[in-house]
Amino acid sequence: MHNNQLLKIAKDFGSPVYIYNSETIIKQYKRLNTAFNKVKKVKINYAVKALSNISILKLMDSLGAGLDTVSIQEVKLGIIAGFPAERIIFTPNGVSLEEIEAVAKLGCQINIDNLSILEQFGTKYPDIPVCIRINPHVMAGGNTNISVGHIDSKFGISIHQIPHILRIVNNTKMTINGIHMHTGSDILDIDVFLYASEILFETAKNFKTLEFIDFGSGFKVPYKPGDIETNIEEFGEKLSARFNEFCKDYGKQLTLAFEPGKFLVSEAGQFLAKVNVVKQTTSTVFAQIDSGFNHLIRPMLYGAQHEIENISNPKGKERFYSVVGYICETDTFANNRRINEINEGDILAFKNAGAYCYSMASNYNSRYRPAEVLWHEGKAHLIRKRETFDDILKNQIEIDLKPKIKAVKV
Ligand SMILES: *Cc1c(COP(=O)(O)O)cnc(C)c1O
Repeated sequence: MHNNQLLKIAKDFGSPVYIYNSETIIKQYKRLNTAFNKVKKVKINYAVKALSNISILKLMDSLGAGLDTVSIQEVKLGIIAGFPAERIIFTPNGVSLEEIEAVAKLGCQINIDNLSILEQFGTKYPDIPVCIRINPHVMAGGNTNISVGHIDSKFGISIHQIPHILRIVNNTKMTINGIHMHTGSDILDIDVFLYASEILFETAKNFKTLEFIDFGSGFKVPYKPGDIETNIEEFGEKLSARFNEFCKDYGKQLTLAFEPGKFLVSEAGQFLAKVNVVKQTTSTVFAQIDSGFNHLIRPMLYGAQHEIENISNPKGKERFYSVVGYICETDTFANNRRINEINEGDILAFKNAGAYCYSMASNYNSRYRPAEVLWHEGKAHLIRKRETFDDILKNQIEIDLKPKIKAVKV
């Protein structure tokens, strides 16, 4: 999108504001689909938690995607957006049996990630086929906060517990129709992923009733110049060949499933914020924007480096800035970042703000969550209003507190 289009959006809808370009989402979806076009049956289930706006879900529906969900609320959003339950997979972690039952009753595919629930669900509902989430114990990427396949991870059922899974399946007569892994959000090395896939194939041989194998996600997109991006084309070619070979051995054409979040929506999003104050200190120049980690927590939570552009002064002389927020907390977006000269009132654009940005926003400091805008076919559509003071007050209950101790008179 052009700077003047972005500036107009910030002017028309106010700041801060999230803006998503549908074209980028469509392009990424097609890229992923094309990378696996040698496999007969491929299913891409969009991970709702990355960006859960209903209009974004509708866009995914129009592309033919399914949904990957982690809470019954996400399932309901999907259904409201028009997805039939059969195209929704529920992959929660540590949720109650009651919630899983409720989602199963809606007709979604259930994916179970612990032995306790597997045994309870299989005993109660032997006729509902389920998928199981395996932990292949493979380290994907370096950050343990986003790498979820390693040995100490809380996610999935360990591959070392296959005999126990089989015992539960045999005892309850339940059906396992899929197996799944999700090793985390940071695949730097295709070979590591392919290695984990081999473990999944090996595991799959234990189950004779499979319909699909779900390889999760973790496809990396570049956040700053020089960042590694998962080579999806090479990955697609290698995994497709291996998958087809496996299906031949298995004796049945299975569906190859993925559940990308970041890959589909990260690059489509930009976060626009206005510079309130430019503050020189003895050591640095701060640019303070009308936002904070209440609206975009990834830099503080994961150390994510979002590229920042001064779209109000793109030709200005480059200087070093620390870009920070306005909440009462250290909320640094960037340190020592070279940015075109910033003046108070300028609009900064934060790149890669599609995934895990709005969906992680909060009301901390009693601030409003920003508006969301979808840029679709050359037009800006408001897809979520900025919050108002009513939203801050909503659900709060004011009680009558009579002072127990009388004020002491002096
Ligand atoms: C979060 C999540 C995803 C999406 O991960 P990305 O890195 O955004 O692609 C996929 N599957 C499961 C089970 C998840 O929890």
